[in-house]
Amino acid sequence: MIEGSCLCGGVRYEYEGEIEEISICHCSQCRKAQGSAFAPVSPLDADRFRLLAGAELLKEYRASPGKARVFCGNCGSPIYSALDSVPGLKRLRLGTVDTDFVCDNVFHIFHASKASWLDCNDSHPRYDERKP
Ligand SMILES: [Zn+2]
Ligand SMILES: [Zn+2]
Repeated sequence: MIEGSCLCGGVRYEYEGEIEEISICHCSQCRKAQGSAFAPVSPLDADRFRLLAGAELLKEYRASPGKARVFCGNCGSPIYSALDSVPGLKRLRLGTVDTDFVCDNVFHIFHASKASWLDCNDSHPRYDERKP
């Protein structure tokens, strides 16, 4: 079981499953949405994701059509994104996870858009855009 929450604690969730993949997205939209060099994201089965608190706080922003970026409207923590075309899947922002977990399946996507100031020398696979 994975549990997580936003910065203010108003939004809390649990996921009845494991984190099986971590894609570290360097695209310019994710960088702005997180205020960070990248966004570590994991796909979740939407049926196994449960909001425990804060449904009324969630707001969404659409930087591209068909894709909602969902965040806490009180503190601004990004929680997940979801494509209208794939309702069974959420893409969790892993910085909000409170449970310790280990996942070896880590890779970089949109590495071609990486912030110039970020030194990124780990051994994880890199893809210029999406994972092929
Ligand atoms: Zn919050
Ligand atoms: Zn991205």
